[in-house]
Amino acid sequence: MTDYSKEIDRYLQRLFPICRSITGEGNRETLRILQEIAPLKIKEFPSGTQVFDWVIPSEWEIRGAYIQNRRKELLIDFQESNMHVMSYSQPVRGKMTLEELKPHLYYREDLPDAIPYRTSYYKKDWGFCLSFIQYKKIQEDGGPFEVLIDSSFKANGSLSIGELIIKGKHKKENLISTYFCHPSLANDNLSGFLLTAFLAKELLARKELNNSYRIIFVPETIGAISYCAMNKGAMQSIDTGLVVTCVGGPGKWGTKQSFDPKHHINKLIQEVFIEKGVDYITYPFDIHGSDERQYSSQGFRINVATICKDKYYEYPFYHTSLDNLDFVKSEQINQTLMLYLGVIEKLEQHSDSHGLLSSYEIESETLNSSPVYRNLYPNCEVMLSKHGLYSDTGGGMLPSENEQGELDIILLLLFHCDGKRSISSISRKLKISLDEAIAVADMLKDRGILERVKNV
Ligand code: ZN
Repeated sequence: MTDYSKEIDRYLQRLFPICRSITGEGNRETLRILQEIAPLKIKEFPSGTQVFDWVIPSEWEIRGAYIQNRRKELLIDFQESNMHVMSYSQPVRGKMTLEELKPHLYYREDLPDAIPYRTSYYKKDWGFCLSFIQYKKIQEDGGPFEVLIDSSFKANGSLSIGELIIKGKHKKENLISTYFCHPSLANDNLSGFLLTAFLAKELLARKELNNSYRIIFVPETIGAISYCAMNKGAMQSIDTGLVVTCVGGPGKWGTKQSFDPKHHINKLIQEVFIEKGVDYITYPFDIHGSDERQYSSQGFRINVATICKDKYYEYPFYHTSLDNLDFVKSEQINQTLMLYLGVIEKLEQHSDSHGLLSSYEIESETLNSSPVYRNLYPNCEVMLSKHGLYSDTGGGMLPSENEQGELDIILLLLFHCDGKRSISSISRKLKISLDEAIAVADMLKDRGILERVKNV
């Protein structure tokens, strides 16, 4: 197999500085560069389009931003790092006191030289992300400050995605999905979308493929949801898939399993790790994570798994400017690429997966006499913030440490309540009390998200 390390390294250097978000020119530029590796099609989904419970937002344009003191010294400058501006910040221009500025400053005291990553895609807000060291300087300065965020929103803009469909002997398609919406963050997920481009290149070089492959580059969440909405039929007939994220760190390899642990994709990944003698961590499916959240939803139920090297949430530099090109190395990405190719090899040999009920489906047939709820939004996730169920500022939230917070229970109920399984069997599966499950389900019913299909 070719060693792509040198080539990967050149692309890391070129792609890292580009400012990406869920929409915008930086995303198009990124896709155009990836086209040099594999001939993916760039598609545009117009702003304002309804995609299931979501609407594709206006396109965000950012030209510059700074915080300046009285002596006209730049304390924060977007030109130095595109992470200094909260993604989707509203335009701001004017003089501000320290007290006015403070609620808009994001920093991490525990990582004093790191700039945290924050977004506010759907709530009109603005903010600066800075290191704690920079924050202390601003505090010492005392103000007033000259503040500028030179941004704008294009209502007639669009969300850009990349797509490459490679036809094999069989119509049966496997999905390979990755996201490219973060600014200068290397492991999450420059490493992942770059690996995916090289994976596509390798697949195209094969003379004969048994399976067909649908390879997509989407902004996380809204991009995956938009793609599912625009390609509903095709996505509903996907066989299995991989979500490529965080593949280039110095730490251990790991695999996040798909929702059905007995599904062959999980077995094949495990075989690859064992055959290659690679030490790895298994992360069982959970309701958080990346775009498997959308693909696993009731409307699609695609078993998608992930191979990571330094999984998101798990490394200390996650969602900070220290997730950079000192942390991620091209050799590490190339090694993970070999593992993904090992999985493809096995998928190619494994072409008769249909016919047997998966263990997930068998389980869902069990009924008993407690209430049954049905999610009225089966396709992808509901937009939690719209229903008052989720914080508006993204980037900073981690899944709750303790077993199950309310948000986890909400997401799990939306995943499981399919109008067939009883709430008592779901509560047993989630290891929560029946009373708690019913209380949360009724709260979701009152908001019009779930309905009770059977009252007991
Ligand atoms: Zn991320």
